[in-house]
Amino acid sequence: MTRYENVAQQLARTESTSWGIVHSATAHWRSTIRGMNDVGTESELHQMIQQQIIGRGITDQRVIEAFYSVPRELFFLDTFRKNAFGDHAAPIGHGQTISQPYMVALMTQRLGVEPHHRVLEIGTGSGYQTAILARLAGEVYTLERIKPLLDDAWERLQELKIRNVHYRFGDGTLGWPEAAPFDRILITAGAPALPHQLLLEQLTDGGSAVLPVGPENQQTLIGVIRQGNELYSADICGVRFVKLIGRHGWADE
Ligand code: SAH
Repeated sequence: MTRYENVAQQLARTESTSWGIVHSATAHWRSTIRGMNDVGTESELHQMIQQQIIGRGITDQRVIEAFYSVPRELFFLDTFRKNAFGDHAAPIGHGQTISQPYMVALMTQRLGVEPHHRVLEIGTGSGYQTAILARLAGEVYTLERIKPLLDDAWERLQELKIRNVHYRFGDGTLGWPEAAPFDRILITAGAPALPHQLLLEQLTDGGSAVLPVGPENQQTLIGVIRQGNELYSADICGVRFVKLIGRHGWADE
């Protein structure tokens, strides 16, 4: 058996294809964080986790617990908050989206984050995925290219008293060289091609990454492992994410 097959086996696909929905919106949100007052919120979260996460094959107990511990409704614009537990992505302003719950769970489970890990996240967005990662990792380094989104995410995570996250405004395709190497890298926006240099230079040897790669309207979620100077990849499923825009991503139009 070749080395590649070994790696491919580790990353063997177990999930069926799932399509995240991408919306766009121009709404701007600057209000402070407010929880939902609806008495139903807790059971809606429970139902979301049972049906969309566990019901679709997510088995990692730490990931499931992390989902229980992060109030998803806090990460939504007022106008979309009533759909916070829906089985879809939703607009967060600036043409960006918060990912579908299942997609966040799938990426997180595939990443295999351990308590001592240092994790780089590219594309903070609402900060929801960041909060989930922060529950699982030692330290999270998150990068976002749209300042108001980063500011709002920072505010939400402060509110949740999440203290093991480092934030940076800028082009995430360059990574975070001063803090590298990372045990795990998660990219939550679609790259036109595999960012080889970033992964080889900023992943630890034996470290792994999860990211969507492919054309603008349809990508493949890919799992990558770095071993020495080689990257080994395996497809996970078809996805649709907003564009990764930057020097080693798509051009800003
Ligand atoms: N995981 C997020 C959703 C992220 S949407 C959540 O849970 O809400 C993808 C994000 O990637 C967007 O906010 C977008 O602005 C950001 N992004 C795109 N290109 C980027 C780049 N080069 N560097 C940093 N962030 C980028």
